[in-house]
Amino acid sequence: FDQREGVIWYDGRMVPWTDANLHVLSHGLHYASAVFEGERAYGGEIFKLDEHTRRLHESARLLDFEIPYSVEEINEACNAVLREQGYSDAYVRPVAWRGSEMMGVSAQHNMIHLAIAVWEWPSYFDPAQRAKGIRLDIAEFRRPDPRTAPCKSKAAGLYMICTISKHKAEKKGFADALMFDWRGYVAEATGANVFFVKDGVLHTPTPDCFLDGITRRTVIDLAKRRGYELVERHIKPEEMEGFEECFICGTAAEVTPVSEIGPYTFTPGNITLTLMNDYSEEVQPKQPTKQMAAAR
Ligand code: PMP
Repeated sequence: FDQREGVIWYDGRMVPWTDANLHVLSHGLHYASAVFEGERAYGGEIFKLDEHTRRLHESARLLDFEIPYSVEEINEACNAVLREQGYSDAYVRPVAWRGSEMMGVSAQHNMIHLAIAVWEWPSYFDPAQRAKGIRLDIAEFRRPDPRTAPCKSKAAGLYMICTISKHKAEKKGFADALMFDWRGYVAEATGANVFFVKDGVLHTPTPDCFLDGITRRTVIDLAKRRGYELVERHIKPEEMEGFEECFICGTAAEVTPVSEIGPYTFTPGNITLTLMNDYSEEVQPKQPTKQMAAAR
């Protein structure tokens, strides 16, 4: 990944992709004092960019550091790298971390770095598997209690349990893993939120100890626009027995149907497919109306 062509925005400058390095004695590497975002551009526009950048700022604040660039500056930088890389559909990855001035647990005065990379990432899951519905393992690790970790931060450290869970699942032939929360309720996949359908009603876990994803909120809006009934609540694992449809959603995963979670099976149905299509329309840049174009 580090030997590609192109540029990366790094602390305010565009640097060649292969030169975007950091020192091994970086606090972010040793103690996971790092936060990131995952964004997608469609038709040359980054979907909900401002929301992503605001979450990046908030993620850092929850880890007790402040990113030394404003939301507007970061938005501009994301757009600049996207333009420079020349993609219209792409994945955008801003990452901020504490530097190398102090190397103990405390790093009060370490410099805060920010880098933004853009690459093409057409499908997060295998497209053939995606059409049929992907298979999820049930993870051993659980999403932590909010008293244990800053669970609303998109913090690098919180992904340790996701990577381990996803690796275990992949080794067993699954596409991903579903994680329960610290109480044993259904929480989310390792990089996406989860929804279920039963008798025409959508059910999704209350995001009280994991990310309330930007895609999740978009899907909820789309469901409301369709007039679907939707319930946010705590969901017990055994309830999955009675659910008919299931899908996961996230910026990278978009809306992906699920056919299996451990012993439970689902069939991608009408509601899942409708929301999948509605989402792919929603992310496209809105064409300016004729009046707006005329006013320019
Ligand atoms: N949960 C986790 C653990 C994630 O990594 C992601 C992806 N950022 C999501 C949920 C979905 O968030 P979003 O829709 O904002 O991408």
